[in-house]
Amino acid sequence: SGTLYIVATPIGNLADISQRALDVLSQVDVIACEDTRHTGKLLSAFSIKNSTMSMHDHNERQRQEHIANLLQEGKSIALVSDAGTPLISDPGFHLVRHCRSLGLPVSPVPGACAAISALSVAGLPTDRFSFEGFLPSKSGARKAVLESLQHEERTMVFYDAPRRAIDTVKDIVSTLGGERYLVIARELTKTFETIHSDKADDFLIWLEQDANQLKGEMVLIIEGYKADANDIPPQAINTLKLLLAEMK
Ligand code: SAM
Repeated sequence: SGTLYIVATPIGNLADISQRALDVLSQVDVIACEDTRHTGKLLSAFSIKNSTMSMHDHNERQRQEHIANLLQEGKSIALVSDAGTPLISDPGFHLVRHCRSLGLPVSPVPGACAAISALSVAGLPTDRFSFEGFLPSKSGARKAVLESLQHEERTMVFYDAPRRAIDTVKDIVSTLGGERYLVIARELTKTFETIHSDKADDFLIWLEQDANQLKGEMVLIIEGYKADANDIPPQAINTLKLLLAEMK
C-alpha cells in the first residue's frame, strides 16, 4: 500500500519549508489539504504542480474512507494544513487514527510548529510543558480553564487570537495573579515578529499601550506554578477544614 505523509509547512516564512517536504509534495499522487486555495498558493510559490483534495474539520470522517482506499490501491498521499504541523490544533487526527488502525503506513515529514517555535525562544522551562491548544473565546469559559490550571507546574502553551490578548491577560491576572510570568510570541517568522515577556500585570500595561500587539497570530506561554514556601500544604488545609467542622 501507499504511504500517508503528514507534512509540516511554514508558519509564515516560506523559506522554512524543508527539502523533504518539497520532494514529498511533488511526488505523492495527491495532496489532502485543509484549504485547497491556501495550499495552492504554497505549491505555486515552489512551482509544484500536483493534484489536491480538501480535507477539513467538516469532511474529515467522510474523506478518511476515500483516502484509506487510495492508500490501499497503492497511491501515496500527503496531508498538509494551512500552516505548521497537521493535527496540532489542525485536522488530521481521525484520518491518522483510521489509517493506523488499518495498518497503513503513516510517516511524518517534520517542520514548523508555532507552539514549539514559541517555546524555543520563550526562556521558560521546557524540560516538561503542557500544550493547551486554543483558549476559549468567552471570558467565563476562559477563566474556568485558567483556574483549572492554577497549580499546573509545567510551562503552559496556548494558541490565542491577539485581538483577545488584553482580555486574556486580564483573566490571567484575576485567576493566576499579576506576578505570573508570561511570554507572547506573535507573528513568528514574519516581518513583525515580536517576542515579549513580563509578569502578567506589567504585560497588561504594555499591551494596552501598543495596539499593534493586537494583530496577527500569537502563541501565549504561561510560566508554571511555583509552590511558594509560604503556601500552606494541602494536607494542612484539609486538617484545618476538619477542625473547623468539629468546632461548628
Ligand atoms: N498546526 C499549526 C502549528 O503547527 O503551529 C497551528 C494551527 S492553529 C489553527 C493556528 C494558531 O497557531 C494561530 O491561531 C496561532 O495561535 C498559532 N500560530 C500559527 N502561526 C503562527 C505564527 N507565525 N506566529 C505565532 N503564532 C502562530
